[in-house]
Amino acid sequence: MKQWISLQAELGDFQRRRTIYTFTLKMSCAAIVLSVAILLVMLPILQWLGLLPMPMLDAIRLCILLASFIGGIVSAALALLAGCAIHKLAVSHAEFERLSRTDMLSGLLNRRAFTEALEDVRDNASLVIFDLDRFKAINDRHGHASGDAVIVAVSQTLSRVFGSGDVVARLGGEEFGAIVHGRDMAGRIERIESVKALIAEQAIAVDGGMVKITLSAGVADLWSERRKEAAYAAADKALYLAKALGRNRIVHESEWMNNVWHRCSSEEERVAVADHVEQYRYGHRI
Ligand code: GH3
Ligand code: MG
Ligand code: MG
Repeated sequence: MKQWISLQAELGDFQRRRTIYTFTLKMSCAAIVLSVAILLVMLPILQWLGLLPMPMLDAIRLCILLASFIGGIVSAALALLAGCAIHKLAVSHAEFERLSRTDMLSGLLNRRAFTEALEDVRDNASLVIFDLDRFKAINDRHGHASGDAVIVAVSQTLSRVFGSGDVVARLGGEEFGAIVHGRDMAGRIERIESVKALIAEQAIAVDGGMVKITLSAGVADLWSERRKEAAYAAADKALYLAKALGRNRIVHESEWMNNVWHRCSSEEERVAVADHVEQYRYGHRI
């Protein structure tokens, strides 16, 4: 019973009030049927013992009447109480789940929810890691609250550009993640580039005036056979390259490979890059 109650709370059916009423109805019907069945088994025994104070048919009628009224009403009341308790549990469980997946400052998904969403990706998509450029300077110049205001403004722009089919999250600090869906890679990159342009143009109100900020991003491709950790590492490396190349830019992982390969000074470094290229090519039509 205990397990069943926690399962119902987790499944979320009991979040709807209607479920409480159907549960109450089912429980009281079950209680009536069960009590009538028990009484029908008891009656012949009582008759055999000579303890039945009325004819059998009248006794059966009385039993059905009593079971329906007393059993039905009592069990309905109990089931209603239990249903309301499970409903409260289910609602708070859902709220707890939502909060544990939400970043409190930005209202976006948090890193945990993002990682789960990433694991669920099956189609071709782009994984993007965004990082605000020289964000510390805003904190230093205008204060932490202003830094928070910038994070909120950037989050709103990201949510606006990436629709319900995509996933956007704040991964921590001034770092954001996105999973951009869409069959056409050029179209996905275009949307990612448009975010960069929008953010760079946006003037954000902070304590003591308006500020502008830019962001850099690393992009990696996702496809069904590719390990998510590998894609994440590739996007992260591409982000580092975007920073190194001067910030306010989007770098695709392929660009990282070209750049780094040419700059490798030792054979070991080249082997490491070659490994990365191999895993990039694996299962990928290039
Ligand atoms: P870069 O272009 O290399 O990314 O430089 P940066 O200044 O953006 O990066 P750095 O890692 O040096 O600084 C990030 C700063 O973000 C440091 C930290 O205090 C600040 N920060 C982290 N989380 C929050 C937050 O929730 N709110 C505010 N206001 N600041 C935060
Ligand atoms: Mg930064
Ligand atoms: Mg950072």
